[in-house]
Amino acid sequence: MVGIGYDIHRLQSGLPLRIGGILIPSEKGAVAHSDGDVLLHALCDALLGATALGDIGELFPDSDPRWAKADSAVFVREVVNKVRAAGYEIRHIDATVVLQMPKIAPYKGQMRERIAQLCGIPAAAVSVKATTNEQLDSLGRGDAVAAWVVCLLKPKA
Ligand code: MG
Repeated sequence: MVGIGYDIHRLQSGLPLRIGGILIPSEKGAVAHSDGDVLLHALCDALLGATALGDIGELFPDSDPRWAKADSAVFVREVVNKVRAAGYEIRHIDATVVLQMPKIAPYKGQMRERIAQLCGIPAAAVSVKATTNEQLDSLGRGDAVAAWVVCLLKPKA
């Protein structure tokens, strides 16, 4: 089974920027109800998509005070448990983060390690790629950060 997930968050000065579970030194951070981790949110939706179990907004609504400032690792762990309970194992995750600045290339390795740890799979099965938006539109102006994630699941043997 394959799944795709997408997320975008506005960026604002003075807020923390967390991507793939890693705190990135940045002048701007994500505006969000939770910790605003676009990569982990897109990952949740990819996993939920592959299993047709809904979406992150259904499971963890931003109207619920329980998820205020929530560590998105909590969302990923719960979604991974649902995937396993549905009889699937995660074989591969491929992610693209779109951010104009700062450069996140130095943190891609840490993001892979963290995602692998949260999903209980080897880091070799996790890919994190980074790109800018070539200064085009909101992403390119540095007003937002976005992520796309595709995942491949296999029925448990
Ligand atoms: Mg989000």
